[in-house]
Amino acid sequence: MQGKIALEEHFAIPETLMDSAGFVPGDYWTELQSRLLDIQDKRLKLMDAHGIETMILSLNAPAVQAIAETGRAIDIARRANDALAEECAKRPDRFRAFAALPLQDPEAAARELERCVKELGFVGALVNGFSQRADTDALLYYDLPQYRGFWATVAALNVPFYLHPRNPLPQDSRIYEGHPWLMGPTWAFAQETAVHALRLMGSGLFDEHPNLRIILGHMGEGLPYMMWRIDHRNAWVKVPPKYPAKRRIADYFNENFYITTSGNFRTQTLIDAMLEIGADRILFSTDWPFENIDHAADWFDTTTISEADRAKIGRTNAKLLFGI
Ligand code: MG
Repeated sequence: MQGKIALEEHFAIPETLMDSAGFVPGDYWTELQSRLLDIQDKRLKLMDAHGIETMILSLNAPAVQAIAETGRAIDIARRANDALAEECAKRPDRFRAFAALPLQDPEAAARELERCVKELGFVGALVNGFSQRADTDALLYYDLPQYRGFWATVAALNVPFYLHPRNPLPQDSRIYEGHPWLMGPTWAFAQETAVHALRLMGSGLFDEHPNLRIILGHMGEGLPYMMWRIDHRNAWVKVPPKYPAKRRIADYFNENFYITTSGNFRTQTLIDAMLEIGADRILFSTDWPFENIDHAADWFDTTTISEADRAKIGRTNAKLLFGI
């Protein structure tokens, strides 16, 4: 399929490059770092070869979210966003941008998002899970009360917010002790991100801001498969749910969330997602450079769905969501 738009596509600046070093074994790191630092060369050639018209670019992970010193998080976010704006300006027909945000400081994050959208023309934000801050052991998840002002800004700017994975901290990873292979994309990314998304849904955030739009990668981080069970546990016990939100979790998932195909190129999984959240809320993505563009595109271009759904997922849903 020609004209695809892909939106979980990463790059790095020198200051954040090493955050990605642990995700591939030794020999592959040379290749991965050259992929992360390249925007205008190999990336564009692969986009051309595989029918991707536009990539919406975002910083690698965990990057800004893992910088415990708030001032430095603010500085790196700004530097990464400025660098990305410069690269997008070279090929505005091929590249768009998601803002990196220093959510260690909700007000600074709101101001940076406003700057990126209004001054740099960014189409939304991509944030790598919870934020860390040096003065607290607490993990800063964005359902916490101090983030309601930030979300008001996101709602007012009317741009989507991509909740991208990161690993849990070592002290919170005891469930994986002795099984390091479960960290990262194998399992821990999805668990961490799915719980964060459920916290947002249960918090009442979407009752307060019904127009917020959250994007999850990797075919929804397992949530489509679990959605019925989340709302129907012990259905014979007639008690209201024990969360502050007003509606069923599936209502928020279906009305406030979008998911992408990044790093999860499996027809069976796509079909399940289409049956839960619907083809209007699924968007093509590759997760370059951690996954191969040909693996994503060759699968998507031939997967057994209707051509009408392929056009939506590959292109038109993104055009509508981002107004591009
Ligand atoms: Mg990714």
